[in-house]
Amino acid sequence: MKTTCNVCGSSSFEEQKVDDIYENPDGRRFVVENIPATVCTVCGERTLSLATARHIFSLLDTAQEVTKTIPVLEFAA
Ligand SMILES: [Zn+2]
Repeated sequence: MKTTCNVCGSSSFEEQKVDDIYENPDGRRFVVENIPATVCTVCGERTLSLATARHIFSLLDTAQEVTKTIPVLEFAA
């Protein structure tokens, strides 16, 4: 648990679920929803735990595999 904000120095935090956009190693962007974060109540700076950050990276790895599937084309006359 943090004691002071890296940005504004406040010591007031809230546990929140946040949405954020992340890029995977291919440069594709994904919205990750409901990320548990510690949010500064003064400036809104978000801090994720190491376990949370690792989980997001594992989600992005999975998403990368999904996008590697061969696209299906419809033969339309
Ligand atoms: Zn702050």
